[in-house]
Amino acid sequence: MIPEGEHDVTSTVEKAAFQAETKEILDLVIHSLYTHPAIFLRELISNASDALDKLRLETLRRTGTPIDDGLLRIRLEADPARRLFRVVDTGIGMSRQEVIDNIGTIARSGTRRFLEALRESGEAPAAAPELIGQFGVGFYSSFIVADLVTLETRRAGEPGATRWTSDGKGEYTIEEIERAAPGTTVTLHLRSPEPGDEDFQDFTQEAVLRDVVKRYSDFIEYPVEMEVGEGDGRRLAVLNSRKPLWTRPKDEIAESEHSEFYRHLTHDWHDPLETIHFRAEGALEYTALLYVPKERPLDVFDPHRAASRVQLYVKRVFVMANCEDLVPPWLRFVPGVVDSADLPLNISRETLQHNRQMGQIRKRLTTKVIETLAARRDAKRADYREFWRSFGPVVKEGIYYDDEKRTAIAELALFASTAGEADTTLAEYVGRMPVKQKEIYVLLAPALETARRSPHLEAYRARGYEVLFLTDPVDEFVLQRLTEYGGRRIRQIDKGEADLDAEGEEAKRAARATELAPLFESIRKELADHVESVRSSARLTESPACLVSGEHDLSPQMRRLLSEGGRDLPAPKRILELNVAHPLVERLRALNENDADHARFADCCELLLGQALVAEGSPPPNPARFARLVVALLAGE
Ligand code: ADP
Repeated sequence: MIPEGEHDVTSTVEKAAFQAETKEILDLVIHSLYTHPAIFLRELISNASDALDKLRLETLRRTGTPIDDGLLRIRLEADPARRLFRVVDTGIGMSRQEVIDNIGTIARSGTRRFLEALRESGEAPAAAPELIGQFGVGFYSSFIVADLVTLETRRAGEPGATRWTSDGKGEYTIEEIERAAPGTTVTLHLRSPEPGDEDFQDFTQEAVLRDVVKRYSDFIEYPVEMEVGEGDGRRLAVLNSRKPLWTRPKDEIAESEHSEFYRHLTHDWHDPLETIHFRAEGALEYTALLYVPKERPLDVFDPHRAASRVQLYVKRVFVMANCEDLVPPWLRFVPGVVDSADLPLNISRETLQHNRQMGQIRKRLTTKVIETLAARRDAKRADYREFWRSFGPVVKEGIYYDDEKRTAIAELALFASTAGEADTTLAEYVGRMPVKQKEIYVLLAPALETARRSPHLEAYRARGYEVLFLTDPVDEFVLQRLTEYGGRRIRQIDKGEADLDAEGEEAKRAARATELAPLFESIRKELADHVESVRSSARLTESPACLVSGEHDLSPQMRRLLSEGGRDLPAPKRILELNVAHPLVERLRALNENDADHARFADCCELLLGQALVAEGSPPPNPARFARLVVALLAGE
């Protein structure tokens, strides 16, 4: 039973409105989750459990001695007659300001982006659970089942207490109250069933509560208690089995239990893609339970987001969330728990940084994740492709930064290539290389379509060499560090001289180039503002011309990226390569040799440059003028 008017010593009651965004989220949560009403209980128990973690940690930090575990409890109370339901915890509680910051607003950095994502997706709120799931519904899920919610709380170590009340319709009140002990009580005034609602779940019924706790919160460390039975047989029962999931034998854990634990950690609506659970024994003892999500969390590129989602426990006691020493930053999308048997309980972030064991754990976890992903890549390519689409850009950070594991991480990458529609890995590419091919050929391009049509590919195609397409903006950075694979140089085909001439061909091409030297020089003069030199090309078989960069120049894509980022770069001068076998070259030579045709020659040079730029996905220097020249050409002027 729930006693009446427990904390009725009120002072001034203040009314306040929710932040506009909070109101919007609230409506969404209620409307999109009303088909999963039991979620609210998972969220409230999860919050209570977090509050107990915090109290335990704070007590240890302050006093140096662990808190008595008997003081850490979660209690459910139900009053069917008055349709009241309560979750009471003896956790850290909140100060008045914390209530305002945490409950009256949604302070999480993801909120704004969550709403934007929702608006952009153009989804009706009813289709929003996926997005809400990624964002986490938290406390607000109470309004799925309740038309009035009261939260009473007292922060540990502070004398006063606070009551927050709202009907979830846009306003809340906040007032000072008295409360005997620190902790939090959330009281829900449950809605009554609509007539004819067959699926109505009554959260004042013991059987319903037992079932929901078992399903969603069984692994919660603290006892979730409730009074059960009738009359003299009334007693306190613990509804959860309380065994932290990671301490149980691997093969005894059901997939559904992993799913629930994963949700508890992440608020993600989906099931995890991978579960990695292992125990390290020997000099260094710990248990790790990590998950790989199916979808990229919204905030994975948020610079304010912690660079880790792994929690550190010491002998089953929660010590730290977001422990950045346990995984490298590129694995920040991997949530999980590491429970160490060797670290001191009161270890701080600062001491962790210099702890040698942490380095070893980090290495091992990184290897495990790489191995797990590699296994999926080999066994379930379709699934893996989805993973790569979501997480590729994050994993590529690992290729860039991780000197030790670079090759193994690079092997996780999937690339489009000239070999066909299917994507390929570096290892598969190398496996297909003809014996005479010495290097790995790649082409950076702003988009796949542009890459597939690039004139740079012609000679490689003609010789049966495959070229990998790199179209992600971060790829250029990646290539700065990933310069070879399996002992073979990775070569960008639009940089430097192409080394493709067959025997005898080179001499022929050189002779022709000498013959054409005066033409090359005239073209260079015409295009002096844009090109550094003109030479004959070993890469072209069909197109008349292409532009290449010097061996160490930035690519046009990188230049664009940097100048969009506000960097003022001098215009690059590139090398114009001509296909000396192309009939156009003969025509240019004829024009060049006749002084009367000089104006026409100049226009042709400009067109040649413009089309070479367009072919690689770059704009011509003066697009309007380029368009005019093309029209003039078409008109036969
Ligand atoms: P989330 O738990 O995802 O952060 P919530 O909306 O559930 O979002 O809660 C917001 C914040 O309110 C929590 O992060 C926590 O700081 C605080 N809070 C909620 N419930 C409790 C509680 N029972 N005890 C102490 N603090 C709480």
